[in-house]
Amino acid sequence: MITTTKVKLYPNETQKILLENHFGSCRFVYNYFLNKRDEYYITHKDAEKSSLNYFDTTKMLAELKKQYPWLYEVNAQSLQMSLRFLDNAFKNFFHKNANHPKFKKKGKNDYFAVPQYISIKGNRICFPKFSEGIYFKGSKEKLSEIKEIKQIIITKDAGDYYCSIIYEKEGNFPEKKPLSVENSVGIDLGLEKFATLSDGIAIENPRFIKKVEKKIKKLQRQLSRKQKDSNNRKKVVLKLQRAYRKLRNMREDFLEKVSIAIAKRYDTIIIEDLGVQDMQRNHRIAKSVGDVSFYSFRQKLMWKADKYGKNLVVIGKFAPSSKLCSNCGNLKKDLKLSERVYHCDVCGMSMDRDYNASKNIRKMGLIKVGLVQSEFTPVEMATSGLRGIYPYRQISIVEAGSLEH
Ligand SMILES: [Zn+2]
Repeated sequence: MITTTKVKLYPNETQKILLENHFGSCRFVYNYFLNKRDEYYITHKDAEKSSLNYFDTTKMLAELKKQYPWLYEVNAQSLQMSLRFLDNAFKNFFHKNANHPKFKKKGKNDYFAVPQYISIKGNRICFPKFSEGIYFKGSKEKLSEIKEIKQIIITKDAGDYYCSIIYEKEGNFPEKKPLSVENSVGIDLGLEKFATLSDGIAIENPRFIKKVEKKIKKLQRQLSRKQKDSNNRKKVVLKLQRAYRKLRNMREDFLEKVSIAIAKRYDTIIIEDLGVQDMQRNHRIAKSVGDVSFYSFRQKLMWKADKYGKNLVVIGKFAPSSKLCSNCGNLKKDLKLSERVYHCDVCGMSMDRDYNASKNIRKMGLIKVGLVQSEFTPVEMATSGLRGIYPYRQISIVEAGSLEH
């Protein structure tokens, strides 16, 4: 099983310069080929080959290095990884899962990846161009379970350096419990509440997160009043970055605790897949989705389910999970987002909107794995998105991790 741990790096001054060179060169390569790929598309729109792929860009990178020899100073594989990330960004765009890739800005989400030749020697992590190793601190428990390091991603956050180690884990997981209707749960992730479970339990968004968000807003206002390039401004920027980091850590901690509690309690856990595009389309939802980090939650839930021998079932984006009556199956097409209580005109049932949705999600999941017969008519099946049910799509660590926030 592949998992990840984040450690803090303590580079010396020489290493800091080399790390900055890596961030800079990887950003340069990313932006350069983002532009090239756009240019190529504009001039070859109607040609048989209308776009550049990853392999085209790796060939072009070799030429680019001759033109800019300073690119030789950094790990060649890290530059190639930038092309890989760019390619993924374009693929997501082509598949309508994301917006068009954006140019990277200096000092904003600085990162680079190292895919090979990584080792940990004592309290140092060694990789190409850093053969003497960078001193680090991390969780001893996590580090002791590393069987093989697959990749590392180095990031900079509020002036500090971090390394996410993606690794193959030692040890076997317990055998999965059989899929069963008993002790199964549907989870509706939402705006008002973080999660509503089909047995009636609701998990509220934690208040401490709101507190930090308030502090962030205050700092943002302060920042807007500071003069450009002033020392005071720099101080506020650092404070703001630290507040963001605190917020991220709090969220991660919250998601970790919730996913453990759910994985321990239930044997079959059913959640809805979330289309990135749907979230982007609805701005109001997009904000909240960012807030509660649904993707991160799903990833954690998957890991915890493995750890405790439980089953995670992901159903396809099932549009009317909130519009269906969980009692009689009536589809209420005109249900508004503001209606917090689902009232069914056919059977007369009244129920909390999210609770009703979680019951539907559970039912759809049980149908998907064949434990329950579908009670829905073919027309409902066609309009419900049930045909779109597909297995869990693993998302990359970079997508799910803190880098994109
Ligand atoms: Zn009904």
